[in-house]
Amino acid sequence: MATIDRQATTLALAHALSAAERGLAVLPLSRTKLPALPSPHRAPRGAPDAAPDRPPCHGECGRPGHGVHDASTDPARIRELFAAAPWATGYGIACGRPPHHLIGIDLDTTAGTDSSAALRELALRHLFTIPPTVVVRTPSGGRHLWLSGPPGLAVPNSAGRLAPGIDVRGAGGYLVGPGSRTRHGVYTLAPGTAHLAPAPCPQALLRLLLPPPRPHRSVAPAAPGVPGQGLVQFVRSAHEGQRNTRLFWAACRAYENGMGPGLAEPLLDASRHTGLTEAEARATIASAARMTGHRP
Ligand SMILES: [Zn+2]
Repeated sequence: MATIDRQATTLALAHALSAAERGLAVLPLSRTKLPALPSPHRAPRGAPDAAPDRPPCHGECGRPGHGVHDASTDPARIRELFAAAPWATGYGIACGRPPHHLIGIDLDTTAGTDSSAALRELALRHLFTIPPTVVVRTPSGGRHLWLSGPPGLAVPNSAGRLAPGIDVRGAGGYLVGPGSRTRHGVYTLAPGTAHLAPAPCPQALLRLLLPPPRPHRSVAPAAPGVPGQGLVQFVRSAHEGQRNTRLFWAACRAYENGMGPGLAEPLLDASRHTGLTEAEARATIASAARMTGHRP
């Protein structure tokens, strides 16, 4: 087990309690940014897995150690969790929970990607602006933008789906809270954002974060066995108002799966069918190519 740094734990608890006061559910994290408390259901080393047919427990057993399911806004519960994890040096903030329904946009700076530029390009293409909101700086120079989502919509977690270097933390995910100490350093609030509340996520960005709507079944079924035909069909059956978003989404999936160049013409054709101009469609496909790290 890691060495115990009482001062770091006390600080992390203080930051966690103040986050909880703002309505954010928190849980203790270890130096590795992982939940500090181990699962109470893990079988002892060498023993066969206990009751593999039992449905997974999300904390119903009453014991701590269920990852993000441990997160709480109750100060007494938070103190209990930290007392059980004296090696904790940070805290996680559960996303997707009321009242904020937090969505974290994680802009990574490692691996040579300029995720801030990628976000700016997404914003230009989809006509949204990131409102003034809470920003947390990571020890590696990255940034976490905090946004609030509407109730009733579960934004899924994703890594690099929006654009290279941009991860999304939504329902079931958590963000490392400001004031947390990890192996690589301390997470801090960006100057001038501490007094802000998480701003509502712009609608156009929210559409990109949500899984695409299922194509209508009334349209002709995709030809079986033709790779990418489903994507083309998905674009072809788009209504006005979702044409560009669908085309962008489909083109990203095409490039990610190595079908970009081959599908560009069929996707253009499908977009023309929906009434999108050729110039618009070409620009969207080119943007999807760049976004996924390809040459348009
Ligand atoms: Zn349990």
